Amino acid sequence: MSKRPLLLVTGGSRGIGAAICLKAAEAGYDLVINYRSDHAAAGQVSDAVHKAGARALVLAGDMADEADIAALFAATDEFGQLTHMVNNAGITGRSGRLTDIDPQVIRETIDLNVTGAILVAREAAKRLSTRLGGPGGSIVNISSVAAHIGSPGEYVWYAASKAAVDGLTIGMARELALEGVRVNAVAPGMTETEIHDRSTGDPGRVERIRPSIPMQRIGKPEEIADAVMYLLSDAASYVTGSILRVSGGR
Ligand code: NAP
Repeated sequence: MSKRPLLLVTGGSRGIGAAICLKAAEAGYDLVINYRSDHAAAGQVSDAVHKAGARALVLAGDMADEADIAALFAATDEFGQLTHMVNNAGITGRSGRLTDIDPQVIRETIDLNVTGAILVAREAAKRLSTRLGGPGGSIVNISSVAAHIGSPGEYVWYAASKAAVDGLTIGMARELALEGVRVNAVAPGMTETEIHDRSTGDPGRVERIRPSIPMQRIGKPEEIADAVMYLLSDAASYVTGSILRVSGGR
């Protein structure tokens, strides 16, 4: 079995998740890379991770689905001892006012961003907790500044889902504090990924919001990944239950 730390990233095939996988491979982690359906994108990330000298297991699976989550963790157990996890898979649902939105969009967002994220974190905790025989480790949940600004007129259900991620982070951090597991969150502001077009269906959104960002620019996925790498690492050994905003001041 490899002595390198093993990091599982959900939604690791594109955007912020892909940037985390690449930085982690360069930092000496082996990887389990989950994605839902974009095989080509997952293949590109896995090639880059291998080029950086890391082992990688690439697995499709819907992180809103309990059976897929169980299968992902069973395959991870075969691959190696999990030591780190980034709970990154997330969607916004279509953009719109709450009164206009189809309840199905709300359900799909909560199923993945809340229920799925909690179930994924639970499986990771079962494997990391020293109380349960694990090696200890670190979990980073990907939240959003939306949890604090509420995203009115855009997707308040998504903002609510990310507020749940913040609560999950604080509660798990305290529950696992004496079991060798640190739990933190990174709350990105607007970041240059395909979520704005593919998930939100509102391509003009980025340019509309840019002037309201104090730094007047959109973040890069690598800038979010740097914050995640810090929280995963021993440099953050006294940091748990923190929500680190990476948002250009927004
Ligand atoms: P993205 O570019 O849309 O990428 C999403 C990733 O998640 C893809 O790898 C996708 O895989 C995967 N995914 C989607 N649904 C999934 C599911 N049900 N099960 C497993 N994987 C799934 O998104 P992103 O912008 O990088 O966002 C990543 C995280 O950051 C999310 O939690 C998001 O809420 C948060 N965030 C993003 C921003 C931003 O401005 N970009 C700001 C704040 C917070 P497939 O391609 O195979 O579907």
